Amino acid sequence: MAIVLNELDARFKYDVANEPGGENVKLCFACGLCTASCPVADIDPEYNPRKIIRMVLLGMRKEVLSSDFPWFCTNAIPARLIALKM
Ligand code: SF4
Repeated sequence: MAIVLNELDARFKYDVANEPGGENVKLCFACGLCTASCPVADIDPEYNPRKIIRMVLLGMRKEVLSSDFPWFCTNAIPARLIALKM
């Protein structure tokens, strides 16, 4: 997936951070723990929570919101517990 610089939306991460459950998104340091503990990623190797968060932080609003991936999230406890520790 190519990153088109003039299509990046720097406001996207703030909009996500203003949503319930998204408050910590800007704290992500790409450790990958969320992906490693994600039950959906176990089933579908293409599913990568760390990558989705990185795309949010880069401002790839169109790519994230037009993707099916965010809807695959089962809101599983491992990812939420890791995020709360940040
Ligand atoms: S566990 Fe947290 S810090 Fe690590 S990649 Fe996932 S969201 Fe980012």
